[in-house]
Amino acid sequence: MDTPKSNHQRRRSSSPFLMSQTLWSSTEKTCRSGLTRSNDEKGVNVKVVLRCRPPNEDEMQVKGPLVISCDELKQEVTATLNTTTKQINKTFLFDKVCGPSSQQKDFYDQSVSPLVNEALEGYTCTIFAYGQTGTGKTYTMEGEAIKEKNGEFHKNAGVIPRAVQEIFDILESQKAEYTMKVAYIEIYNEEITDLLSLDEESKPIDEKQRKPLALMEDGKGAVFIRGLEEVTVSTADEIYKILEKGSANKHTAETLLNKQSNRSHSIFSITLHVKECTHEGLELIKCGKLNLVDLAGSENILRSGAKEGRAREAGEINKSLLTLGRVINALVDHSGHVPYRDSKLTRFLRDSLGGKTKTCIIATVSPSIQCLEETLSTLEYANRAKQIKNRPEVNQ
Ligand code: ADP
Ligand code: MG
Repeated sequence: MDTPKSNHQRRRSSSPFLMSQTLWSSTEKTCRSGLTRSNDEKGVNVKVVLRCRPPNEDEMQVKGPLVISCDELKQEVTATLNTTTKQINKTFLFDKVCGPSSQQKDFYDQSVSPLVNEALEGYTCTIFAYGQTGTGKTYTMEGEAIKEKNGEFHKNAGVIPRAVQEIFDILESQKAEYTMKVAYIEIYNEEITDLLSLDEESKPIDEKQRKPLALMEDGKGAVFIRGLEEVTVSTADEIYKILEKGSANKHTAETLLNKQSNRSHSIFSITLHVKECTHEGLELIKCGKLNLVDLAGSENILRSGAKEGRAREAGEINKSLLTLGRVINALVDHSGHVPYRDSKLTRFLRDSLGGKTKTCIIATVSPSIQCLEETLSTLEYANRAKQIKNRPEVNQ
């Protein structure tokens, strides 16, 4: 049976943080061919996982070999092209590489589950899915279904429902006292919409109901969204209903506003307060947060370097995604000014890049020759993001 619970039980019976150690304690600094993996020597880095989906039917019909190959043992991805006019042979090393045959459950267990454990320990953790439209961001984050008709977990359920299930499994097994709240927002055209702001359960959001929310800062500089509805939940099934509602709103808003989902970012956040008693009999409250982010399609961004000159129409450029790239560049280059404030996404998730948050970027690609240019951009982008150092010990 495909349940995260059975897996969780197996893992916790041996070592509760076995998976955490796998992803977060790598101290390997330099790998062969000068390729580098993230290292944790001076703070915990942003971990980068590469996922390549299987070719779709259209891509299968295109003559020619697939151009992306994944080595899951070496955690390497190679892009190869050998034509009379163009030769490409580039290898990239990531913290984790998942090839086309990787199943949702294994992907979750190996790449995301460690962060869920960290959120339960009181950290803020953020998971981004980044990549070209059609490469599997939503498949990875949400999946195609949550439960089978018989109530069992669906094998194509994505990261969000699996994380929810694992959190409840752990809290139940610890008999912990906790409060949990969830929120679901979308950023489109630099406007923030609350995907859970519905008057009635069945009534979809309409243009008049849709009120863009303001991003504010409190006296201590912490960012929050004014008027955002945070729903208190106590079971996984409640969250699954909320997810369905949020997704239905995404689709409805998409039709009403004539927008494209590949241009919007959605963020599902789980906030946890878990009570813990220390050996000395003191009561502690651990405050953890998990942000699960499905980013807009990366093909809409104005890239740096060689493509800088090829500016696309202003309206086509996604300001938040563009700023995310600039933030990554500034952090990697250690340039003094990091432009977090230039977009809603980077303001809201400022802590997730260069701050105190534990972050995992899932970069998604297609294996097809038709996507090669965008795939190389994604690989370069993700490769650069590996070098960001977050500093969770600073303020936690
Ligand atoms: P994106 O959100 O990046 O635009 P989607 O998640 O909508 O892309 O995926 C596009 C299509 O590819 C969907 O039909 C999805 O089911 C399929 N797909 C994506 N990733 C995988 C995967 N790892 N395994 C099987 N099918 C996948
Ligand atoms: Mg999508």
